[in-house]
Formats: sequence, C-alpha cells, structure tokens
Amino acid sequence: MPGLIVLGAQWGDEGKGRVVDLLAADAQVVARYQGGHNAGHTVVVGEHTLKLHQVPSGITRRGVLCVIGNGTVVEPLALVQEMDEVAQLGFDLGALRISRAAHLILPYHQALDQAQEASRGAQAIGTTGRGIGPAYTDKAARAGLRAEELVNFDTFAARFREAAAAKNELLTRLYGRPALDIEAMLAQLRPTAERLAPYVADTSLLLHQALRQGRHVLFEGAQGTLLDIDHGTYPFVTSSNPTAGGACVGVGVPPASIAGVLGVVKAYTTRVGAGPFPCERCDEVGEHLVKMGAEFGTTTGRRRRCGWLDTVVVRYAARLSGFTGLAVTKLDVLTGLPSLRICTGYRCGGTLTEDWPPVGYSLADCEPVYEELPGWSESLSAVRRWEDLPPAARHYIERLEALAGVPVDLVSVGPEREQLVVRRNVWR
Ligand code: GDP
Repeated sequence: MPGLIVLGAQWGDEGKGRVVDLLAADAQVVARYQGGHNAGHTVVVGEHTLKLHQVPSGITRRGVLCVIGNGTVVEPLALVQEMDEVAQLGFDLGALRISRAAHLILPYHQALDQAQEASRGAQAIGTTGRGIGPAYTDKAARAGLRAEELVNFDTFAARFREAAAAKNELLTRLYGRPALDIEAMLAQLRPTAERLAPYVADTSLLLHQALRQGRHVLFEGAQGTLLDIDHGTYPFVTSSNPTAGGACVGVGVPPASIAGVLGVVKAYTTRVGAGPFPCERCDEVGEHLVKMGAEFGTTTGRRRRCGWLDTVVVRYAARLSGFTGLAVTKLDVLTGLPSLRICTGYRCGGTLTEDWPPVGYSLADCEPVYEELPGWSESLSAVRRWEDLPPAARHYIERLEALAGVPVDLVSVGPEREQLVVRRNVWR
C-alpha cells in the first residue's frame, strides 16, 4: 500500500505530528500538502521536543524524503529559522525538498493579516496573524510569488517590489497602517533565498517516482477537518483543504495513489480561536482536560477550548475523507474523570440529528446529545497492549469505533514514541 494520508478529524491539534513521526519509521516519503507555519506539530523524540511548523514530521527519521508540497504556503524566513532549530537538535535536512509551486508568505502578508484581523473587531476569526490567509488570497488572485522564484533573486526582487508597493497602498490607505520598507525586506530575504534555493524541486515528480517504485508515502495534513475552507465551520476556518481531497491537489499525485486515509482523533475535543463548539465545557471537566492534556497551542501558546468527544464531528470527517482507520490520541488525559460523555447527536431546530446540521442551521444552533460512559482511574502511560487497557477505556474506544463507523487502529497513551497501543498495521 503506497500512499497513506494522515489528517486531523477535529479542529486540529489532534496529535498528527506524533502519529506521522511514528508511521514514518516504515515510510520512505512524508509530504505536507497544505497550510503554512500556522500549523504546529509537537514531536517528542527521546529527550528532544521538536516544534515543527513547516518541516514535515518525517524529518525525525534519517533518509526519509520530506516534501513541503505545492499546496502549502512557505514563509522563507521562518522556514530557515525552523531548519536551523531542527539541525541544532541533530536531525538531518539533506532529504528536505520544497515544491517549486508552493506559494510564499512574504512580510507584507503578515502585516495585512494583522491589519485585517484587527479591522474585523468583534467578528475576528482568531487567525494566527502569520499571513497565511493573505498568501492564499494572492495565490487565488494569481498575484503570488512561488518558491521557484527564489532561485533567481533578481527576477524575484523585481516582482517583490511591485507586489509590496501594491500592499503598501492597502496598508496605508485602507487600514491606516505605516508602509513597509521594501528594500529592508528584500535585504532580509536575499540570504534566505540563497539558503532555500537548493531545496526547491519538482516535488510532484519525486513523489511520482517514489510511488512508482512502491515506496511508502505519507501525506501529512495540518490543522483539521473542521478548519477546512470548504467543509469546515466557515468563516472560522483556515485558507486551505486539510480534508483528504486536498492531498492529491496539494502535492500533485493522482487519487489512485492513495490507498488509505488515517483520521487522527483526540479522545476529547479541543478548539483554538473563535467559532461554534457544541461540546465545549467551561467547568471542572474543561479544566481537567486543559491541565492534564497541556492544551496550549504549539504555535501561539493560546489556551485551547476543551470539551467532550463529539462523534458527529468524527462521522462528518469520516464521510468527507473516507477514513480507512482511526488513530486515537491522548486517551491518558481522560484518566481520573469519574464518568465520561460522548456526543452522539445534536438537538437542532427542534429535531434530533446524528449528522451535520441541515441547511439553515450551523453548529451554533446545535445542542449536544450525550451518552454517559464509566471512567477509569488507572494511569495508562505504561500500557502497550490492547488487553492491558482498563475495561472502561476499551469500552470507550469501542463506542467511538461503533459511532464513527471506522476501526481504531492506533491508541496513544502519552506523547513519547513508545506510548502506544497498536491494534492493526495501518500499512495493511
Ligand atoms: P498536531 O498539530 O495535530 O500535531 O498536534 P499538536 O502537536 O499541536 O498537539 C498535540 C500535543 O499532544 C503535543 O504536545 C503532543 O506531544 C501531545 N500528545 C500527542 N499524543 C499524546 C498522547 O497520547 N498523550 C498525551 N498526554 N499527549 C500527547
């Protein structure tokens, strides 16, 4: 089975980086297919904790080709800094490649992002303010600069000057902000372009070759299903497609090369930023989840909103992406809660639904319907076999499996690589 997509089934932060790091042990290629440095994957390898934003999580495995796909947006200055941090921890960057067609996030995108978010006032989306939305806007408007342009800096500089001048008009006239210093930005970008140029490649071709040779390729999604620009809780979404359909477009491979789709599900639900969240708990349960799950963003440090597991969300994600299996993370965080709840459906506009809210309604109009399950008090951190999980924990996973209609292949019980229960080989 050559191609496996790994993506988040909820609002992101499900622990995808940890799952990709694990599966990369049996992969030859890991390719990121969307998002920018707004993503934050925390991967714990021995005594090292890597905070990855743009570099694919397979970088932890020597020799694995790591592709930053055309569907991503690349912030060159931040990428170089991240590469330096990764190298300092002793990981090899020799097999990193950046798609020639990936669009660049440039300093004016970040300035615009912050100006736009501030101008939204009470309607703020809660973006990370890193320029991701404006970079994708330029891509769609056919006004963006792409990674391959870094290879010829003089041509890049000419295009950059033109684009930056137009953005300065917007910043000063529309948003009343100071103009950016174009030559200062270019001076900063020149050495960065020189650093990155050797990594720019026709990555679609590299992936094609790997797949033809039967290599195991992981397609790594960032953010999560409900942040998908088309299928998520619009407008509180990201500017790209984390759902499985985004993988083929985002790296340039045909759908037939995908043999499996692994949905990563946190054992409860979290969300960063604004927007509806039916199962949110602002009581002692929410506190327990924040505290035990260390629910603070990898990229922004923001406290995540927390609540019970919502299987309407997981079913919706499974429908959109065709999950062939699930990886459940952070089951250990539920230890100590005397009883647990799983949301099985919504009360919405006077009717019960087990599906996504019907036309005319949004998640904001939905009240969760819960099923109560027994909790457990045993620590799970040393459990490695399914049969060693407390019966209540197994029951919880089995209920999720039944309600989602997808088998659970992996259960993680801690952030360390080995803190894992493998039920089925996902490369089957
Ligand atoms: P991603 O963006 O989906 O990769 O998720 P993040 O990295 O933002 O958040 C996941 C966090 O949970 C990281 O800090 C991981 O180290 C941690 N983590 C992953 N799996 C587990 C687990 O099973 N148990 C616990 N306690 N932490 C985990």
